[in-house]
Order: sequence, then C-alpha cells, then structure tokens
Amino acid sequence: MRVLAGKEIRVTGIVQGVGFRPFVHGLARACRLGGDVSNDPRGVRIRVFGAPDAIDRFLQKLAASPPPRAMVARIETKEIRPERRDGFEILPSRADGKPVAAIAPDAAICPACRREMANPSDRRFGYPFTNCTLCGPRYSILERIPYDRANTAMRDFAMCADCQREYLSPEDRRHHAQANCCPRCGPRLWLADAGGKTLAGDPVEASARALSEGRILAVKGLGGFHLACDASNDAAVRRLRERKDREEKPFAVMARDVETVRRLVLLPPYAERLLASPEAPILIARKRRPALLAESVAPGNNSYGVMLPYTPLHALLLERGPACLVMTSGNRADEPIAAENGEALERLQGIADLFLLHDRRITVRQDDSVLLAAKGRPVMVRRSRGYAPAGIETGADVDGVAAYGAMLKNAPAVGRGSTLFPGRHVGDLGNARALEMFLEVLGHLKEILGVRVRRVACDLHPDYPSTRLAEESGLEVVRVQHHHAHLLSLMAESRLHEPAIGVALDGTGYGPDGALWGGEIFAFDPHGFERKYHLAYVPLPGGERAVQEPWRMALAYLKQCGLDWRPWIREERAPEVAALIESRVPMFRTSSMGRLFDAVSSLCGLCHVAGHEAQAPMALEGALEGTPDAYAFGIEGEEICADGVIRSVVRDREQGVPAGIVSGRFHNAVVEMVLACARRLREEEGLNRLFLSGGVFMNRYLCDRIPERATREGFEVLTHSLLPPNDGGIAAGQALYAAFH
Ligand code: ZN
Ligand code: ZN
Ligand code: FE
Repeated sequence: MRVLAGKEIRVTGIVQGVGFRPFVHGLARACRLGGDVSNDPRGVRIRVFGAPDAIDRFLQKLAASPPPRAMVARIETKEIRPERRDGFEILPSRADGKPVAAIAPDAAICPACRREMANPSDRRFGYPFTNCTLCGPRYSILERIPYDRANTAMRDFAMCADCQREYLSPEDRRHHAQANCCPRCGPRLWLADAGGKTLAGDPVEASARALSEGRILAVKGLGGFHLACDASNDAAVRRLRERKDREEKPFAVMARDVETVRRLVLLPPYAERLLASPEAPILIARKRRPALLAESVAPGNNSYGVMLPYTPLHALLLERGPACLVMTSGNRADEPIAAENGEALERLQGIADLFLLHDRRITVRQDDSVLLAAKGRPVMVRRSRGYAPAGIETGADVDGVAAYGAMLKNAPAVGRGSTLFPGRHVGDLGNARALEMFLEVLGHLKEILGVRVRRVACDLHPDYPSTRLAEESGLEVVRVQHHHAHLLSLMAESRLHEPAIGVALDGTGYGPDGALWGGEIFAFDPHGFERKYHLAYVPLPGGERAVQEPWRMALAYLKQCGLDWRPWIREERAPEVAALIESRVPMFRTSSMGRLFDAVSSLCGLCHVAGHEAQAPMALEGALEGTPDAYAFGIEGEEICADGVIRSVVRDREQGVPAGIVSGRFHNAVVEMVLACARRLREEEGLNRLFLSGGVFMNRYLCDRIPERATREGFEVLTHSLLPPNDGGIAAGQALYAAFH
C-alpha cells in the first residue's frame, strides 16, 4: 500500500452498539486503506492512511450509507501525518475525555437471527438470547459508557471460544457484537412457580402450554417484566384484570406475525413497516369487526394496541403458544415495571401463576413504546423502549438543562448542547416507587451523557412532586406554564421557533390565575405566550375527584346552562355536589377540554365514573359514528362558550339520538371551533403556523380531522411524531423554555 495521506475522522451521534466499527472496518478494507477505528466516550474515532482519492471515496461512503441503525450527527475530519499500516484494525475502547456518545436504543430481533433460531442445525437453534450487531439489548443492559461488553450486564457472561471467534472475525455478522452469546456461554432461561421454585422441563414449552391453558405468566423481557395470558381466553384476561386491579384500561396485545395483526386491526399503509421496525412499538389501531379477541382485552374501545414479538423469547412463546397474547407491564396498578427476578416474584405475587425468568440483568428498565396509528402518520403516545435514550435535536441551546416534567406520564429530560435527551417513561409520580424511578432515570441520563446540570425546568403547579424535587435541587429553577410547555415541546421537535398559533387541548394544567387550564389557544413562541382564546370556566366540583368522576363535570355544565341535572345524573352524591355549586363556595375552575369530553361522555351514558385516566373521553371517541353535522361553540371575546354544545347534546339525547351520533357531532364541533379560532388569529396576528398539542391529541379523530381541514385552508400544521402530545413529552417544552430564559 502506497501511503500518501492520513486522516483522523470523528463520528458522533448514535454510533455505538449499532455495528459501526465493523462497518468501518469493512469499508476501509474495500477502499484499500490502512488504519484503525475505536469507540471512545465521544463516539467513534477513525484513522485512515492511503491514497487521497481512496480516502475521499471512504468518506463519501461513510456519509452516504452508514449502518441502518446508526444516526450520524456529525463527521469531523482532520489531516494527520501519514503512517505505514498493514491492514485495518478495531482497537479497544478509549476511556478518556468527556462522555458525549449517544447510546443506541434496544432493537428488536432481526430476520437473520430469527432464521438462525429456527434452523435445527444452527448452534443457536431455539436459543432465546440470540442477537447480533444489528439487534438485541443495548440501553436496557447498559451500566456506563462507552458501550462495551464490560460496561453492560453481559459482563456476567464470558464468551465461549465459538462466540469469541465470531466477535473477533471481521467477516462475521457478530463482529464486535457486545452482547454476543450462545446456549453454551450466555444467559439461561428457567420457569419458576409462584413461590420461586424452578420447575423441571423445557421452560418455553411449559410456558406455552400454561398460556394455552389460560394461566397467567410473568415474562422477563427486554426492559422489564410483562404479564401475559391468552388474549382470546376471556376468563384468563378477566382473571388478569382482577388480580392486577385494573378494571377497564385496554391491554396491549402481542401477535404472532403481521398476518395475525392484519386480522385484528385496520392498518394505515406505513403501519406494517413500523410494527416490524427495530423499535417495534405498540401501535394503537382501529379494531376490525367482529373483534377476534376476548371482549375483556379492550372493553368498550374501538382500538387495539398491538405489537410484534421483539425478543427471541417472545418469538418462541408466540410460535409455540397462543397466536395473540395480552402483554401488559409487569406491575400493580400505576407502579413502575418490575425488572429484577426477586422483585418480580415479590411484587407480582398473587398476579402471576408462573414466572419465566432469566439471568441477564436489566440495568435500565423501560416500558414498551406506544404510537397511535393516525391517518398518514403515527403519533407518539409513550416514548420508551426502542426510542430512549436517542436524543432530539432542538435547534436551541439546552445544554445543562434538566427538565422534570409534570405529574402524570412523567418522563424527565436532560439537554446537552442543542440535543435534548428525553428519559424513558416513568409514569405517574403519585407513589414512592415512581419517585425513586424518576431519580434513577434522571441520574442515569446525567451519567451516561456526562452532563453537569446547571438549571432545572419544571411545571408551574406548586404541588407536583416534580416541582418540589426541582425546588429542592438547589439549582436555578425555571417554571413553565403547562400548556405553553406542551406547545413548546412540539416546537422543540420541529425546530421551528418563530411565533405561531398554539392549540393546547388537554386534561388539566395549572394556569397563572390559579384556575386549571386545558382548552387553550395561544399566540406563542419560546419567549412567552398570549392566551387568545380559552374554554369558558366552569367549576371543577370536588377538584381531583371531578377528574375521576365525569358525572361531576356533566353536573357542572348542566348547572352552568341552567338545565335540570336530575334526569341525567343518578349518582348518590349528586344533590350534595349540586348544592355545593349553588352555594358558591370557592371552588377550582377549569377551562379543560378533557373535562368537557368527560361531561359529554357522561351525558351520553358512556362513562360516569372513570376507572383509569381518560376513560370517559376514550369511551366517547370509541362510540363515535361518522356524521356531517356539528354542534356549535360560541366565541365571545376570549371565551369559548360550550353552553350551546351542552344544550344540543341534551336535546339530542332527549330525542333519542344515539350516543355515537352525538359523539360525532361533538367531535365535529371541536374541529370547527379550533379552525374558527385559528382563522381569527391568522387575521389578527398574521400567524399561519398551527401547533397542535396536549393530551386530547391522542384522540385519533381530532388527529386526522384538524390537520386535514387546516391544511386545506392553507395553514401549516405541526403535530407530534417524536414526542408525545400528552404530559410524557412536556419536559422537552420546559427545556426549550429554559433555553430562551
Ligand atoms: Zn440479529
Ligand atoms: Zn458462546
Ligand atoms: Fe397536560
């Protein structure tokens, strides 16, 4: 090899744990270059020596076609003194410097690994921990960076000679696969009874049989435990609900293959690719009728949350057991997902009949990610396994900012440079375990990113645990109005920071006037907002109880309209609550769109008492029947008045109009109201960009309709695809606000 030139190349982004070094190795050899490649805390460092045109070709290919799972943020090059090298090598990792390498998320099993597992003559035949450079656990086994076996839970297992050979061989597809293992040297699977005693026999066979017999199985997966049972066995699903203390909230389903999914739900064109992607999320899609699964899987809901097997173990279970399994987080009610064997045996005691366990530790627990299959594009609902901890480019300086999120669906975020790293889903901060997990997630993010946090951003609500933790941090605290943060989270992911129209339709969030906001239309940018329109205030009788008991909102709205509530509400405490409203004792007031959905849902007889968050709005959406008609909101000054809507609902219900049509007319009214406000703001403020955020945008009808109509009227419409519109995405908006203040 004639040495004429030398270059040092630094690649940052998601470049570790995605087969980057083997890729570079192959490319360098193809270009006939000598040199080396190594992981370091900043990413990947490459040194190449050879003919200048060969180096150029190498750089071109590096930029144009990196490995499929890599996300290259930047490639920097500099000239170095040429050296004579025989060949190209992969060097051990360097541990100097500040860690800035982005960590790869976990990836679903790839087709090549599945083929090996299905091949009786392969040494990994039926091995439930098969993985390669393209697939398998990453973030969920990480202890620190750089991403090398010694820094992961796989350090518990020493590679056998065969695995070692694969690992070292540049031609092998497991070249430098950090989690490489086989039945001889890798993790081991076993089945235990509820007391933790190991049961004899093939654990997969026995588990599949137990599932087919209607038993409930706790399965240790990638980011934590699942509780599984046969989704077509109504009795089994009911038993799981009873034991898990979960009345009506829909369960996610794992289906054997895409064909099975197709029989369950109606899929938009992009959906099959998304389901089979390395991220392998749960996709919420419309049920086919008649529904094929047990009614108790998603009672009164027009959708199923479906996913495909994403670990080798899942693939085996679904091949040998039922074709559709309920796969719900292994936890009780609202606690975080269980991740350790002992912890699962203790916490899932009395829920699971059997425990399918293994000895690969989960260092970073994660729930499944969830997306909504809206028309044309998916909407992120819960961002966790498969997506975390990949960063989001915000286009603003969020360096050293930690954003603590809100109360429900909490997920903190940490900024480095202009990239924001949303942490994985923590859940509701209402219990001690969740608070612990919050601190764990935040601490882990800071550590793997090497960020020294200088400022903390949190909600305006004084009583959120996240706000209290922020105040106790001893750092400078920036407090951000809840709906401003919702809209800014969308600005963060779209990197469009100029003034815009913001529509925040939400449950509730604290307003600076002490009321609970949630039906807000702003003119806003990262510096601040003007509240241009909002739903007219109504009392929130009983505060938090009104959120759990939609009949209270129905009552509040009926009284607001001067209508008789008695024909509509039979609850025992209704007279007392009515008297309370009449007495005009000081009470929280709210402009929440979520609460208006509650009221209408109750008036339609769909949900008077909610067993889980957003049950009433989901029931209303679930009942929806297509209709061209719409009720009408009034807009008076800055107030959006719902009286006319409530009167129409009552009149229609009295005349026996079916709940589905009432729901359709109500949904259409919301669409028309949003468009009317947007038009006014366009005229008054000259704004044409329309941002849609807040928890109500998990409603598929609104997600389809509002963008469709607004685009036709010439608005530039922005919706969430990287971050959830609900409180799970709010930390990003808080961080963006902090960047501008
Ligand atoms: Zn693979
Ligand atoms: Zn091995
Ligand atoms: Fe919210």
